[in-house]
Amino acid sequence: MKKHTHSNGTTLLENHKLRITPIRQQVLGLFMGKPHALSHSDIEQTLVGDFDRVTIYRTLTSFVEKGLVHKIPAENGVVRYALCKDSCSEEQHHHSHVHFNCGTCGQTFCLENISVPTITLPQGYSFTDMNYLTTGTCKNCNKQ
Ligand SMILES: [Zn+2]
Ligand SMILES: [Zn+2]
Ligand SMILES: [Zn+2]
Repeated sequence: MKKHTHSNGTTLLENHKLRITPIRQQVLGLFMGKPHALSHSDIEQTLVGDFDRVTIYRTLTSFVEKGLVHKIPAENGVVRYALCKDSCSEEQHHHSHVHFNCGTCGQTFCLENISVPTITLPQGYSFTDMNYLTTGTCKNCNKQ
């Protein structure tokens, strides 16, 4: 049986057939340590070491391609990335969960386990992706 664990970045990289490199390990570690989605600049500011923008961009692109993270488009055009669940694989992302953008802290969260409507497309249209973006105040900000 294939082991799936989110506690070990190396295992995750191996499971998604990604060669283990210092930047991949570090970027993945950032995602695993945060409950919210990360933008390119979040990652760039947090990484330790000398990694240029292109290297970070390539790392994120390979993660998306291999089904490790998914992209979340936002209203202001800033794309964020969040860790996928185990069901995603190369070229195939299997999730239709809700994304929530907090207007107070500005963070974006993946909200799992919320039923979302199934959309049937008209004939001639084929389906690639679906995005449910909701906005409001997150639970952390509501507590304060
Ligand atoms: Zn995915
Ligand atoms: Zn918030
Ligand atoms: Zn998500």
